[in-house]
Amino acid sequence: MDLPINYIVIYTGLPAVIKGNPSTIIELVRPLLEKGDLNTIIDPRLKGKFDVNLGWKVLGLAISCTASTSIQRPTMSVVLTELKQCVNLESTSTSERDIFVPPRHIYSALIDPDTKQWNRQLVVQTFYPDEAKQILSIPISQRLPADKIIWHYERDGEFFVRSAHHLLKQHNSRDVAASSGQQMNNLWREIWKAPVPNRVRNFLWRLGKNILPTRANLVRKGVQIENLCPQCHSAPETIDHLFLHCHLTQLTWFASQLGARVPQSMPVHIWLLQGLTCDDTRGAQLFCVLMWKIWNARNNLVFNNKLVDPIAIAHEAMYFMQELSPSPHENNATLMQDAVLAAQPMPSAPHVFYVDGGCFSGNATGWGMVIYNQSGHVVLSACRKELIDVEPVLAEAIGVRWCLQKAIELNMTDIVIVSDAATVVSCINSNKPVAVIDLVIQDCNLLIEQLDSVVVTHVRRHLNVVAH
Ligand SMILES: [Zn+2]
Repeated sequence: MDLPINYIVIYTGLPAVIKGNPSTIIELVRPLLEKGDLNTIIDPRLKGKFDVNLGWKVLGLAISCTASTSIQRPTMSVVLTELKQCVNLESTSTSERDIFVPPRHIYSALIDPDTKQWNRQLVVQTFYPDEAKQILSIPISQRLPADKIIWHYERDGEFFVRSAHHLLKQHNSRDVAASSGQQMNNLWREIWKAPVPNRVRNFLWRLGKNILPTRANLVRKGVQIENLCPQCHSAPETIDHLFLHCHLTQLTWFASQLGARVPQSMPVHIWLLQGLTCDDTRGAQLFCVLMWKIWNARNNLVFNNKLVDPIAIAHEAMYFMQELSPSPHENNATLMQDAVLAAQPMPSAPHVFYVDGGCFSGNATGWGMVIYNQSGHVVLSACRKELIDVEPVLAEAIGVRWCLQKAIELNMTDIVIVSDAATVVSCINSNKPVAVIDLVIQDCNLLIEQLDSVVVTHVRRHLNVVAH
């Protein structure tokens, strides 16, 4: 589909190819437009919600571009000039844009029914760049089920009306953050690379996106509560305050093995990036764990009334570190367990899939997959990259779905999939839904039904090195 036809599809709400006679949207629309009958062409659901002049201009231009001989068609420079005028016309009436809600079937025109992927070109041509980016980052179910609205800021996906306000605010603050684009790109990449378990990584990602339910964020969502820090009651509980500037947090940083002093007025994103990129891997690991433990301690105070003790938090972080990468004397049991797991080519099956997701620069997400046969030989290794920006847990779920699709494609009917994402593995095995990955997990379950035997198993991240 080319650009002019896209515009006609959007304004009329008709499919580009029509069954019967006339067989194309151009043949149907041209005579009506020549008669000056704009009202019968425009999608009834758009009436009163768009600028009539703009409609005439765009449709007229689109139709002229489809003339059968090149002499009748305008040159590209004329088209661009006219389109610019249309854009100016539209931007003079911003209120029109605010109330423009495209009818549902326009969205389906944006999905290619054969590949079951977004029609990237069409989405990019049709929407503003930031909107196009968000649309393309929504994973599409391979089953193309009926549309359903979920609120992925809540675990159960239930919509929270008052938080629409919050979303707008967050969008604005994200724009400010995005202005230091390269820095944010680096931050996402470093969070993905962080040498910590997935639950800590997911926490860091949510912190980076400022979607943790701190009191300041809840108040922005419209929740009627006091926004003061529950630890010190002296400032609003923003992420900057909670993780850096609260005096109890500052004591925690200082009491930790990092012995860190928090610089005044540093935003948490910069602090996070500095901590993640410090030269010493163990230092970066401790940094991440401390951030996470500060959040846990805060939750313990809010929900269990347990007082925050900076020294105890610093100790807990160290205990957790020992669990993560024990020295030979510290925790033989864990080490043995890891050694046993590492020595095995994983649970035996004719084919074992290792999969892992990762973040690339420019808001791209990538996946690696390695398939072993029973004798431990690599049958296939593959990489995939998509220009989408999704949270780690969703990326991992898409990775597992990709393995299942590959298994079906290669006719491997008895498989084991190894992932380091505990949430994804438990969702598939227990059928307990988590809103943000639910659609993809449902796809996975249907794909599993097409295979003879599928085991999806969890492995600690540093053991899943094959897929990295
Ligand atoms: Zn405080």
